Amino acid sequence: MISITAYPPIGTDKPPQTSARNSAENPAKDTSNQPKKKPIWLSPSSVNAYLRCPRSFYLSRIAKAKQKPSIHLIRGIAVHNAIGQFYRHRLNRCANIALSELRPAVVALFVDEWNRHKESLSTLRLTDEDLDFFVYDSKKMMLNFLHDFIKAKGFEQPAPDIEKMLFAYQYRLLGRIDAIHSGRSPPLLVDFKTSKSKEFSEDYKRQLAIYSILYQNHYREKPEVTIHYLKFPDGLETYPISDQYIDETIALVKDIHTKIQSQDIADYPCTCGWCERNFYPQKNPNCNPNQTGI
Ligand SMILES: [Zn+2]
Repeated sequence: MISITAYPPIGTDKPPQTSARNSAENPAKDTSNQPKKKPIWLSPSSVNAYLRCPRSFYLSRIAKAKQKPSIHLIRGIAVHNAIGQFYRHRLNRCANIALSELRPAVVALFVDEWNRHKESLSTLRLTDEDLDFFVYDSKKMMLNFLHDFIKAKGFEQPAPDIEKMLFAYQYRLLGRIDAIHSGRSPPLLVDFKTSKSKEFSEDYKRQLAIYSILYQNHYREKPEVTIHYLKFPDGLETYPISDQYIDETIALVKDIHTKIQSQDIADYPCTCGWCERNFYPQKNPNCNPNQTGI
């Protein structure tokens, strides 16, 4: 996941649709007359969004308000997708290519992804100088990724699972993990960050704990969880997550699920001060970012 918590793009985390779990999906079997609302699934980004600002959570996850793009979001998506393309194009199997050819090929993967966002980028009203900086900075990140890939003897390693979505039904919890190296012992989970520092925030720790929960729930094995800070050479950092922290995170997820049963915007105060700026105004007057009543 990228350093800001809106990746994957809000609304793309789709849990599996199972009629047994959600009678609203299967009205023929629904014996009650009450409309049933679709259960909300939580992801690392939505858990952190709720903790940072309940109003932001409400707008993005419940009211489905459209969020304004940001340069950090677009850049993060472009870099993540470019790394995904590295494996999809099987460059991880091209040990025979000279480094002098591989480096521009990896940079080109980013440029292709960046160009896909030209329209969104034009709405940001950034100067050409600012945009050039982000392109330059991102190209360096791609080269740092390649550097670490080669250093870790990536050509000789089994290909990781890229952007794999995992689910834990009992907690209605899901997450898309950037890279899973399941052939190692213990298995290694990697989250790519495009953040400008290596600060290990509480948000990041919680995110890794949720990945660990999801992985253990699915594979019954505790993984090693890491963050690859792409801005830095040798940016892969491993963080131990204690069983106690895992238990606390599960309790936190259950608590948030209880709190987000409400459909009333007044139960979701803005604590960030940015909601009005970050979301487009909604046609539904109950969904306006700056609505008072809290
Ligand atoms: Zn807010």
